[in-house]
Amino acid sequence: MISLNNGTRKLLDQLGPMAADTQVLIALYDAEDRLQFDNPAFRSAFFIAADEHPLWADLMRRNYRLRQGTVIAAADFEEWLRSTQSRRGKVSFRAFETDLHDGRWLWMTETVRENGWMLCIASDITRIRANERDLRQDRDVAIKAAQTDELTGVANRRFVMARLEELLAIPVAADQALGCLAVFDIDNFKYINDTLGHHAGDVILRDFAGLIQAHVRRTDCFGRVGGEEFVLVMPRTLADEAACIIHRMLAIVRDSRPLPDSSDFSYTFSAGLAVARRGDALAEVYRRADLALYGAKLAGRDRLQINIDLPSGEKR
Ligand code: GH3
Ligand code: MG
Ligand code: MG
Repeated sequence: MISLNNGTRKLLDQLGPMAADTQVLIALYDAEDRLQFDNPAFRSAFFIAADEHPLWADLMRRNYRLRQGTVIAAADFEEWLRSTQSRRGKVSFRAFETDLHDGRWLWMTETVRENGWMLCIASDITRIRANERDLRQDRDVAIKAAQTDELTGVANRRFVMARLEELLAIPVAADQALGCLAVFDIDNFKYINDTLGHHAGDVILRDFAGLIQAHVRRTDCFGRVGGEEFVLVMPRTLADEAACIIHRMLAIVRDSRPLPDSSDFSYTFSAGLAVARRGDALAEVYRRADLALYGAKLAGRDRLQINIDLPSGEKR
């Protein structure tokens, strides 16, 4: 039994009934992005049954199909989802305006705890400062563009590197893991471009980004850092756990057949993994992951190599 102090107990006693009555929309998602709590105002805005605990992605997908809930101005829902997921829940606080099919505008805030749980609180702002709404929407579109890789729709170098900087700054105890950095590079990509054409190369880049993003945990951040190079930032993750995730990704990419005109064409990637150490500069952990990637290429590609950690103090 968890012991609560008096203040916390009072808060919880009051919060339950208030959440049931308030017009403010309240929801809580776990680290897997599954809805664990929602109040009636939230349920009615997003068409959720009282006993339902959908994944956020499934909820958005259903509402998109039924043209209810959030207005999503994208022709391809899955593309929109992938892009949104590459940035959703990666920063500790985010606020934005969003509109519903019923004509309401909401001011939505997302607060994320270290353990990945996310609190969403939204208020109806339909009648507030409506005249400047276009301007604010334009600003949000510009922010999204500044964080997104245009070709693949996943996070770009700037966004994912900022998450790596944050990982390195996590205040953790001596026995806790800071996390891991993985760098991914598609194998023989120049050959693919040269033999199948640049367009096929682009299709493969999009296929790769989509497959990997679909298997990225919400607490992790995946982005394209250049050409056919991508990184995966995994806060508070041990090397074994990270390796297990990456091995699954290697298998998924190996099985992909992204070119309809060359139905037996398949491709692979190589990965280098480094464990972040307390006091690491970004360039150091990146260099270790890159060295491991180089090792994976030398060892024959289509594999993961984990950076062998040098004893602390010893630098190359
Ligand atoms: P390795 O297995 O050692 O990684 O070999 P590789 O051929 O993949 O490596 P290399 O770095 O030599 O080639 C990368 C190629 O990626 C060269 C460049 O033409 C291509 N490339 C970079 N950006 C893009 C892009 O946006 N679209 C396409 N289609 N090709 C790109
Ligand atoms: Mg490369
Ligand atoms: Mg390559």
